[in-house]
Amino acid sequence: MFALSQFPLPYDSDSLAPYMSEQTLDFHHGKHLATYINTLNDLIAGTDYESMPLIEIVRKSASDKNATKIFNNAAQVFNHNFFFHGLRKNNSQNVPDEIAACFGGSSEFRKKFKSAAAGVFGSGWAWLIWENNTAQIITTANADTPIAHGQKPLLALDVWEHAYYLDYQNRRGDFIDTFLDNLINWNFVQDNLALYKTGN
Ligand code: MN
Repeated sequence: MFALSQFPLPYDSDSLAPYMSEQTLDFHHGKHLATYINTLNDLIAGTDYESMPLIEIVRKSASDKNATKIFNNAAQVFNHNFFFHGLRKNNSQNVPDEIAACFGGSSEFRKKFKSAAAGVFGSGWAWLIWENNTAQIITTANADTPIAHGQKPLLALDVWEHAYYLDYQNRRGDFIDTFLDNLINWNFVQDNLALYKTGN
């Protein structure tokens, strides 16, 4: 059994305002993530998945045609926890040189990430991942997640409407701009990168 308390926000829910409101975080973490966790618990009860760690559930269910619902809910639990940890209010951040260099500069990184995130049709995610010794930007649809494909995530942006509608309504582009300019926890990105570079 998983519980929301295993996936706490690493900050107070009012601490990202005005870029991401307390109301958005209360719904997104306290309602949406909680529902994915509760649904996952119901789906895995009495199955082989019941005793597995979350990441193993995601990876095994990704290739199990009879476990689509388990995959969707488990992946969303992972994705949301990863997303929330990648946020921090910061008014004066710079893209780390090591990341910027992978894209030919920080403005190129910004442009490519925005274009990718804006281009997700319907619900999904934009990701910064580490692959072939370089940072790359990818998107996934619905609940899909890099960890189901052997990829190593550095940072996630949720572009499901529920992630931004209360604060930005239909203006996904404004939400992406705000994320890029004011909400990325680059320490989280650098910690992930350091882990991958040491072989984890
Ligand atoms: Mn979400």
